[in-house]
Amino acid sequence: MTIGLALRDWSMWTLPRPALVYWMSVDLAALAVGGYVMAATAPPTLEDLGRFGAIACTGLVVIVITAIATQLSNETRRNPWALHICYLSAGLLVLPPNLVLLLLLGPALYGVLGPGPDAHRWLFTLAATTLSVFAARATIGWQHPNWDFGMLVLGGIVLLMTRAVLVAVGLRLRAPSAGADEVFGEPIDVVLGIVAASTGALMALAVLSDPIRALLAGPPMFLLERAAQLPQWRRSAQRDAKTGLSNAVHWDLRARDELAKASARRRPVAMMLLDLDHFKRVNDRVGHLAGDAALAAVARELRGSVRSGDVVGRFGGEEFVVLLPDTGPGVAESVAERVRHAISLLRVATTAADGQAHVLSGLTVSIGVSTSDRYGYDVSALLVAADSALLSAKGYGRNLVAMA
Ligand code: GH3
Ligand code: MG
Ligand code: MG
Repeated sequence: MTIGLALRDWSMWTLPRPALVYWMSVDLAALAVGGYVMAATAPPTLEDLGRFGAIACTGLVVIVITAIATQLSNETRRNPWALHICYLSAGLLVLPPNLVLLLLLGPALYGVLGPGPDAHRWLFTLAATTLSVFAARATIGWQHPNWDFGMLVLGGIVLLMTRAVLVAVGLRLRAPSAGADEVFGEPIDVVLGIVAASTGALMALAVLSDPIRALLAGPPMFLLERAAQLPQWRRSAQRDAKTGLSNAVHWDLRARDELAKASARRRPVAMMLLDLDHFKRVNDRVGHLAGDAALAAVARELRGSVRSGDVVGRFGGEEFVVLLPDTGPGVAESVAERVRHAISLLRVATTAADGQAHVLSGLTVSIGVSTSDRYGYDVSALLVAADSALLSAKGYGRNLVAMA
């Protein structure tokens, strides 16, 4: 049924071919492993069924409570992957493989009942989870898991790494230009995975002593799921949604931080303020969605043209700002020239307001640059100076760099 659901999911067929082949291979491999597990495992004992019931019920109760909490606080629903990892880790340690497979109904049901239109995505995540769960089981002992501490740690590493790598390759093939934190997750995601797996191991210990004690894992699992939302909240608080750059508030905090460091060390700093030329015309001629695509493309180009330690932000509508630590006036001017030139060469594939494909080109930008050797280390003083230089670049005809 689930495969049929994915095949009718048309968005899957628009994936790049390598991604499609890879995703389907992972799905089929998981199906094969599932078939093997069903065929090769003896029927469970009553004791196994009791442990299964305790782990599954705890997982279910926490999933239902988190779903209600999400609903009540009007948050968008997300796949509670850390929760799934938690009870799967517990099952992995105390259940026979066929009951571990049954536990995977948890993420499967979530996919079927959940909101997402992209059936192939959750099916792929489910397949990657299935493969990593059984890779971990094979590591710690297929018939009788080995509870040595070193083996537990190794099993956890295999579980988390296999899943992360399988998913990362899929994401990379789907979107070759995706950023590293989109593909691998953020450091906090790694921490969450480790906490989920070790809470699962504690749950397994509780279940071995008495199945009902599985419920003790409920509150930490609930907290884990709440914590799993943190990266998303932090991203939306710090980033500008259209371009992925720091928003103005976050940029200001980071810039002040860098300026304080530079001032203490007496290192030169430069500030670039950029404003797209005649951008209103782009919106008027091609439409606001094309305008947004142009802003995103300019942001990508800008981020790619400066060093990773430079602080890039979206300042306002079609204005961007970059703080360049360790940069004197000469280098700052040449960086600004390079950025200006790179943006003038951009070609952005978009859809015009009439629905036709349209390639935007001829975008230009005016840039004002100020430096600490003339204006000191105060963020406002540097911004005011860069803004007035920007105004003169506009005055001299645009598509220019002006030094304050
Ligand atoms: P100038 O060369 O003098 O800067 O001309 P301009 O048209 O770029 O200047 P102005 O500041 O008058 O207009 C900026 C325009 O940028 C207004 C608005 O249509 C557009 N804009 C601002 N924010 C956004 C956005 O988020 N998306 C889109 N599509 N357009 C935006
Ligand atoms: Mg403008
Ligand atoms: Mg403007």
